Amino acid sequence: MYYNENTIIYFNNEFVKATEARPDIYGQSLHYGYAVFEGIRAYNTENGVKIFKVAEHYDRMKFSCEAVGIPYPYDNNELIDLSYQVLEKNNLRDAYIRPLVICTPNMSLTKGKDSQLLIAAWDWGAYLGDRMLNLMISSYRRISPASFKVQAKVSGHYINSIMATQEAKDCGFDEALLLDVNGFVAEGPGANFFVEKDGVLYTPQLGSILPGITRATVIEICNELGFEVIEKQILPEEVYGADSAFFCGTAAEVIGIGSLDKVAFTKEWKDSFGSKIQKAYKDLVLEKSYKSELALA
Ligand code: PMP
Repeated sequence: MYYNENTIIYFNNEFVKATEARPDIYGQSLHYGYAVFEGIRAYNTENGVKIFKVAEHYDRMKFSCEAVGIPYPYDNNELIDLSYQVLEKNNLRDAYIRPLVICTPNMSLTKGKDSQLLIAAWDWGAYLGDRMLNLMISSYRRISPASFKVQAKVSGHYINSIMATQEAKDCGFDEALLLDVNGFVAEGPGANFFVEKDGVLYTPQLGSILPGITRATVIEICNELGFEVIEKQILPEEVYGADSAFFCGTAAEVIGIGSLDKVAFTKEWKDSFGSKIQKAYKDLVLEKSYKSELALA
């Protein structure tokens, strides 16, 4: 599904076949989850294939590496160019791009000596459905900012996400919503969270969450559309039975949430802020003008 015998990736300073890349197995990345990655989307827009917010993603990759001491000798323009080349070499248009920075052999618990960069990409067809997620509050708490650099996108952090998603699926839900260590709503395993109540959107403040690039885009869209957004600490009790809610992230885009712990949100999705933001986000990534369209609606 992710690759076949013809797939080309960029790995360790060259383009190679995915089946022929040889990452070293004596490194901290594989053994301890000491690696940094990004998840980026390319869209087949009206103006050709465009990678959405690509500079922001590579800025965050640099920030993440620096946060945990992984050497980062890469230049944004070079990375952007390489990413487009990976798409081209694989003939991809609507795609997911996965850059990953791993460390060279070193088994000790010290910072990375050298790093290697991988850029892979795979097909990611346009999502057409109107699916609504049924969530449960996870029994796992989001990793603590006292223990991890929560704002960095570090591979090892995702064990927490895997535990939470699998638990939710095992319990018959679509996805989890995690609280932070103090019991406030944090985020999903791979997406940020917004809830609508009495004409205002609320989203967890930064601190225990990944500062999502989509979250920032949603806030920009809200400012442009005149929707009030407040970043604050949110208790689960404030979410149960609220008007509406959604997740947002590069992969998830903007996706509505139908219920939390089987308590349904009360507004019809089509009447919610989230639905309007979902449309605006789709137009934005496809480089269509959304302001004029929504003004007419
Ligand atoms: N939170 C977590 C834990 C994530 O993994 C992601 C996906 N990167 C997000 C939020 C959303 O971030 P972004 O919008 O930058 O993809």
